[in-house]
Amino acid sequence: MGRPVIFCVPHPDDETLGAGVSIAEHVAAGRDVHVLLMTKGTSSGAIDKINGSLWSPWWGAPHNPPVEGYQPLDAYSLGVARLREIRAALGCLGVPADRIHYAWDLLGEEPLDTQVTIAQAKAAIKALHGKVMADNPDSGNCGLWAPSHTVDDNPDHRNIGQASWDLYKADPVTWADRRYWVLPPYWNDARLNQVPGRMWDYPADAQTANRVRNACRAYASWAPAEGLYAFGYHSVADMFALMDGSTSTNTPKCLIHK
Ligand SMILES: [Zn+2]
Repeated sequence: MGRPVIFCVPHPDDETLGAGVSIAEHVAAGRDVHVLLMTKGTSSGAIDKINGSLWSPWWGAPHNPPVEGYQPLDAYSLGVARLREIRAALGCLGVPADRIHYAWDLLGEEPLDTQVTIAQAKAAIKALHGKVMADNPDSGNCGLWAPSHTVDDNPDHRNIGQASWDLYKADPVTWADRRYWVLPPYWNDARLNQVPGRMWDYPADAQTANRVRNACRAYASWAPAEGLYAFGYHSVADMFALMDGSTSTNTPKCLIHK
């Protein structure tokens, strides 16, 4: 097994939209890829679209749960549904279920969507790092990928990126190998001038690009009887459109900095 790497993901869909190409390429390179999910992403306003009280431009018709055969979602059932989506997406990217780790299992408390603290992220990353290194004692340094702490406005994203940076400042040897991803809404953000080592990560081959597109499909799956509500696309269809092949200029890609 290759050198380990941890992708620390704030909410389901951030991994595909921010780092899908990079995750698939790490798998293809034989790296021991682990994903650490910090929250179930239950604060999204898109729940109102599924429940029929808010129009979804992507769906283009009002939802009617009784007619369509499901109970309106609450925070709990939404969390369950979102976990189904991220597991399916990560499978498409080549990450099996036993390489997906949940912060609430590691911490004994569940970090809440919009309320993730730097301390929680640091503790979860260190706990997972300990497990990964115990399984691979001779594997060398573990990589750590996180959302940008500079080029992002979401507090959970920023705090998780900051946790990665703080770990590096406290222990530059253990955390020498870090990268930060920039989500598509920020690809032209002026703050990009403040970050070092900016680069685009393009798919190395057609199959890698297809894996990212297939991961997007997991977020468009509509099968309410199976607990699948296409939540990702109801939430951020515009971002997925940059990755999924539905517009002309969109080979999937990731914007990364150091
Ligand atoms: Zn997010």
